[in-house]
Amino acid sequence: QSYLDRIKAEDGALNSFITVTEEQALSQAQAADQRRAAGEAGPFTGLPIAHKDIFCTEGVRTSCGSRMLDNFISPYNATVIENFNRAGAVSLGKTNMDEFAMGSSNESSFYGPARNPWNTECVPGGSSGGSAAAIAGGLVPGATGTDTGGSIRQPAALCGITGLKPTYGRVSRYGMIAYASSLDQGGPMARTAEDNAIMLNVMAGFDPKDSTSIDKAVPDYTLTLNDSLKGLKIGLPKEYFSDEIDPQITAQVQAAIKEFEALGATVKEVSLPNSHLAIPAYYIIAPAEASSNLSRFDGVRYGYRCNDPVDLEDMYKRSRGEGFGEEVKRRIMVGTYALSEGFYDAYYKKALQIRRLIQQDFVNVLAEVDIIMGPTTPHPAFKLGEKTSDPVAMYMEDIFTISLNLAGMPGMSIPCGFANGLPVGLQLIGNYFAEERLLNAAHQFQ
Ligand code: GLN
Repeated sequence: QSYLDRIKAEDGALNSFITVTEEQALSQAQAADQRRAAGEAGPFTGLPIAHKDIFCTEGVRTSCGSRMLDNFISPYNATVIENFNRAGAVSLGKTNMDEFAMGSSNESSFYGPARNPWNTECVPGGSSGGSAAAIAGGLVPGATGTDTGGSIRQPAALCGITGLKPTYGRVSRYGMIAYASSLDQGGPMARTAEDNAIMLNVMAGFDPKDSTSIDKAVPDYTLTLNDSLKGLKIGLPKEYFSDEIDPQITAQVQAAIKEFEALGATVKEVSLPNSHLAIPAYYIIAPAEASSNLSRFDGVRYGYRCNDPVDLEDMYKRSRGEGFGEEVKRRIMVGTYALSEGFYDAYYKKALQIRRLIQQDFVNVLAEVDIIMGPTTPHPAFKLGEKTSDPVAMYMEDIFTISLNLAGMPGMSIPCGFANGLPVGLQLIGNYFAEERLLNAAHQFQ
């Protein structure tokens, strides 16, 4: 109830929730009390949580930040939602996001942007901006997010919280509305690494309903949080410390790395020579997959349908034309173009080849060091409207996060100071299934 009261008092300014499920939350809380009284409570029983509005939630509107799904009440639960329900979590509602998770500022949401609690004239980042803003504003202690090119880590950095993108395949994508299926991965967002570990314990695991889910045992991520960092090998990619980064960010990141050295870690310079190709490759691959995934929104089966169509083609055209926002349409056009006959080899195939080179860069470096560190973003939170007219400037904000999705490895962002009064994020990158190590290092630092 106290969190629901806080949402009522504060969310007018933050716009971090699209839907607040007050009734459901109170009944889940009651059920949790009964479970506790019966001695059947688990570690998550009764804990409040919120879910990015990309996770299908039975009986609740699941909008994905789009007019297209404004009227969509999901008939089933995503596996992630099911896992939290089974653990006894209390869901307060669904958080704001960029439309279909396309964006880095939350400004493409049909419901208007969420705002950064540190300065409400600034963006919270995106696409999981609502989750990050709600946590930073104290409206919920933890929330789910998804990360296709940085959408957990970048808003975590901009809002001064901790977020983890797990290894691709670690968390089920079943019921998580698809943006770019080979890159999308759900993960936890909360204040601390410890809270992330507690959430990942609930979220991770094999799911036969997701064909890319990996059948590998899930450790208890809280057990290794207190391991010593003595001898931990940290790699600093020279490409992540260029002149284009806000010097205050570089200074905070360097100070944080000194702290890791004081905790017993050793540091060396490494190189990810193909990093500069990550954004161009991603902006072929992600739109290509999106153009295919979003073809299901046709006004026929569910979602938005235009008024009084004259025939089937008119219905398709106007339903999609009116239901999708500008950024989504831009991605569909780019993706359709890249996949069309005559361009496929020149763009899509080339992008896949680059993807392999980028992955190999990470594999090579992570054979030598345990964790790669650098800034999560090149700048702190920017003003609302500052980059909306220049999509490429917006895309560049993900320069340090996107390559990891192409490689499929886990990464997290943790707060490491301030630049001009706005939070700065430190990014930690590990090898496949090294979530324990990332959480351990982050926890020792915090
Ligand atoms: N900002 C990137 C994009 O717009 C990444 C978004 C995401 O990770 N969902 O595609």
